[in-house]
Amino acid sequence: MFRLFLEATANMNVQDVQDSANEVAGGGGSLTGSSSGDLPVVFIAGVGRSGSTLLDLCLNGMDRVATVGELRFLWENGYRQNVLCGCGTAFHDCAVWRATLDRAFLHGSEDLASIERDKSAVDRWRHLPRLLLPGLRDRRFRERLNRYGDTLRRVIAAAAEVQNATVVIDSSKDPTHGLILAQTPGIDLRVVHLVRDPRAAVFSRSRLRRRPEVVDEVRFMPRQSALESAFEWVLLNRLSEQVAATARRSIRLRYDELTAAPRETLTRLCAALELPESGAPFIDDRRVQFSVNHSVAGNPIRFQQGTVVIEPDEEWRSEMAPADRRLVELVTGRLAAQYGFAT
Ligand SMILES: [Zn+2]
Repeated sequence: MFRLFLEATANMNVQDVQDSANEVAGGGGSLTGSSSGDLPVVFIAGVGRSGSTLLDLCLNGMDRVATVGELRFLWENGYRQNVLCGCGTAFHDCAVWRATLDRAFLHGSEDLASIERDKSAVDRWRHLPRLLLPGLRDRRFRERLNRYGDTLRRVIAAAAEVQNATVVIDSSKDPTHGLILAQTPGIDLRVVHLVRDPRAAVFSRSRLRRRPEVVDEVRFMPRQSALESAFEWVLLNRLSEQVAATARRSIRLRYDELTAAPRETLTRLCAALELPESGAPFIDDRRVQFSVNHSVAGNPIRFQQGTVVIEPDEEWRSEMAPADRRLVELVTGRLAAQYGFAT
């Protein structure tokens, strides 16, 4: 079943998604909103534990660039669980988020309930066919897609205003969320598809790691079996390719490139996505200065501030069980080779 689905998504014509963007925009418009006034949003696509938070924080340190973290978790993690913002303050006490939500006209629980209804009606795996193929949508789905996309746009635009930014980073990664942003008028979507060696990504997902942003109880980041994670790696990367293909500007980066040469990698990213590269927060080739961030969700490194040394995480090479490693290579081998990972 996985194979059929992968083949279907891999062969899908990107034009379908582009048509859908035009349909939402009222027809005839350009997909990524090149018209003036559209807000540049850098969407980091890919699989969890691929270094997206690290990249997010490097970008956040640049002039007039601000991150919102993994925006798709705003409602659950922020509003409902009141987890810690990246600045270390509880979400509802963070002055930046309070001002952002005020400007976005998102206030009480009534708003939240209706937003969550819209979200679950469009941002779920079972809605992927309709997100990819506009011909499958009915009027009700289109309405909810428009409404939820517009809610996200309002939050992003308000975050830009409050943080005095001209570019906003959303490191949500999930393809359904990315496809919604891609089809939302007013957003000029630019995609970074971040890929990591599947053995490293799978190994990272198998480790037990506490979520430090949950302070009133002990919670852990989700763990998965190697087989599950390997299939998910292929599927999410294939779908991330689809999201990247909907954007006029996109780049695929490897985690090992980012950790081996962070400064050069960021320069390459800015050139590909046509972002002004000013204020890149590097002290030297390995050390980066993390400034305060207001990410609503992401890897625990988002709580780090000050000087951080970027180093590759190669623990999987010595610690991964040989059977898991072979299984992962079997499932992911072809796509991993395509991305340039040596086996
Ligand atoms: Zn904050």
